[in-house]
Amino acid sequence: MIKFDNVTKTYENNGAAATYALNCVSLEVQKGEFVFVVGRSGAGKSTLSKLMIGEIKPTSGNLYVNGTCVNALKRRQIPYFRRTVGMVFQDFRLLENKTVFENVAFAMDIIGATRKQIRRKVPEVLSRVGLANKSKRYPHQLSGGEQQRVAIARALVNNPGLIIADEPTGNLDVQMSQEIINMLDEINRGGTTVLVVTHDLDMVNQMKKRVIEIEDGSIVRDEERSGNFESSFL
Ligand code: ADP
Repeated sequence: MIKFDNVTKTYENNGAAATYALNCVSLEVQKGEFVFVVGRSGAGKSTLSKLMIGEIKPTSGNLYVNGTCVNALKRRQIPYFRRTVGMVFQDFRLLENKTVFENVAFAMDIIGATRKQIRRKVPEVLSRVGLANKSKRYPHQLSGGEQQRVAIARALVNNPGLIIADEPTGNLDVQMSQEIINMLDEINRGGTTVLVVTHDLDMVNQMKKRVIEIEDGSIVRDEERSGNFESSFL
């Protein structure tokens, strides 16, 4: 589902020594897995996420997502590839002038779904995230946790095989964070592969999922069921 094969990403620094944001990283995530990616600020987590959605290209090495060699994609192919991956961000990224229903419908609209398909599917995913009764609200009329649930519904609506969530609970309190992680867990139990980048080590410890830790651009830990991070570690 995800495969990094000796991936290095350097950033140029105007003549100074380049930063190795990722240094020869190899990793594999199988279909149906739930994986946390953790690491200190500057460790290389965003670089990893951006590579996976084709936002940046590796300096060397290859990476594959859903069987596609992402670094070989042409610029014009990237929007089509992104439709196969559901993205969830820390800052929700909802359209403020659209209702909950319209925000989710928009993701179907851009892939050319018919009105009939939209009318059938959007209520279905909204009820899956517990927002069936809030479809006419605007984002500012929702709590942070509810806004993130809309973002999850939008990520799910085109049935992606993979969801990448970059600090999905970074703006939420403990209770809402728990709700969101439980929801991602449930989605994963339905067969979708889920990768969550997070700083929330209490959450990571409690969920007992696979955890990959990055430090200075390298993987320093990859455990099947982590439960032993010190919460002050990052
Ligand atoms: P994280 O998401 O774990 O905080 P990043 O992937 O953003 O880490 O950054 C990894 C390293 O690469 C850091 O040293 C950061 O300063 C550097 N870096 C990230 N983006 C750029 C960029 N566009 N130009 C130069 N250096 C960058």
